[in-house]
Amino acid sequence: MSKKLLNIASEFGSPVYVYDSETIINQYNRLTKAFSNVKNLKVNYAVKALSNISILRLFKSLGSGLDTVSIQEVQLGLKAGFKPEHIIYTPNGVSLEEIENVAKLGVQINIDNLSILEQFGTKHPNIPVCIRINPHVMAGGNTNISVGHIDSKFGISIHQIPLLLRIVENTKMNINGIHMHTGSDILDIDVFLYASEILFETAKQFKNLEFIDFGSGFKVPYKEGDIETNIEELGKKLSKRFNEFCKSYGKELTLAFEPGKFLVSQSGVFLAKVNVVKQTTSTVFAQIDSGFNHLIRPMLYGSQHEIINITNPGGRERFYSVVGYICETDTFANNRRINEIKEGDILCFKNAGAYCFTMASNYNSRYRPAEVLIHNGKPHLIRKRETFEDILQNQVEISI
Ligand SMILES: *Cc1c(COP(=O)(O)O)cnc(C)c1O
Repeated sequence: MSKKLLNIASEFGSPVYVYDSETIINQYNRLTKAFSNVKNLKVNYAVKALSNISILRLFKSLGSGLDTVSIQEVQLGLKAGFKPEHIIYTPNGVSLEEIENVAKLGVQINIDNLSILEQFGTKHPNIPVCIRINPHVMAGGNTNISVGHIDSKFGISIHQIPLLLRIVENTKMNINGIHMHTGSDILDIDVFLYASEILFETAKQFKNLEFIDFGSGFKVPYKEGDIETNIEELGKKLSKRFNEFCKSYGKELTLAFEPGKFLVSQSGVFLAKVNVVKQTTSTVFAQIDSGFNHLIRPMLYGSQHEIINITNPGGRERFYSVVGYICETDTFANNRRINEIKEGDILCFKNAGAYCFTMASNYNSRYRPAEVLIHNGKPHLIRKRETFEDILQNQVEISI
């Protein structure tokens, strides 16, 4: 694999994101297999994790739907060939106008606050709406991504169900789905199942449901010793509970999920070249031709992406701090054991499929990297590296 990645770095340049479709397909199949006891399962891939249109096409070929958080993601999905009924729109804090525009496209709307719910229901009582419930369950590996807790801005609190029901009754709107997304990085299946019970309790109060959406937050391992969500166990336990619920509800509902990270994180690597090896009094720095403009997760979340020197994989291990070329602190890793690094070596960052390219920026007026997809064993360029024209594209020069 190292050799293949080195060839990609020399053919397409660095830095570059490389994704492997086989890993994505395997993860998708793993998830659907885990829930094979559920008659109607719908996996809606969360576009924001990795939104390249070729990746969306790959998901379409697998029979996946899409989970979107902006009208632009909806448009990307439509452009990739998804039918509107295979897209769910789960925004947070967007305008009524944007929600109406997405509804006009025929996409399933998911509303997460009572104010918009009342306005939307009053104006469009016939458009089916899903509601996002906040079960107030603490789950998640990082406070930035724990979205189910009491002070979270996400979802309609379960404590507000009486008011929610009153709005639904008054507007005569049609609630066809119920949803939760308790945050990324679910460590504990029991916590997830507990939140699911709250969702079932809530679901009972709505008579016209077609689906229950359990969101996502499946954890994948980043560093050695990390645990990952046991999808097979979750599948077994939740399927059983879901099927029991459907029986008591009197209808075969669809069980929906909307994973991002689980489906694409491990499929991706980020390749960058070492510009400088710099020794200070205490540290050996390896400085790469990138920074948090291309991969912000270590700085934003403290994420630990495994780093491999693919130019010298058999070399003696030494300790390095891997940093970028941005003119402020941009540390990817501190005091990390890596095979001996020389200037010009290519470092490979693992788990770079999810929330990496999609969070990249032009800070320091640098170009965003290229993206390559290995499909059927062959590398395909799926996004060109930016050029100077891209930096200037929307700037308007006035005479001063
Ligand atoms: C981001 C997001 C997801 C995907 O979360 P992952 O942790 O990447 O699986 C799913 N649903 C909603 C509503 C989201 O905002």
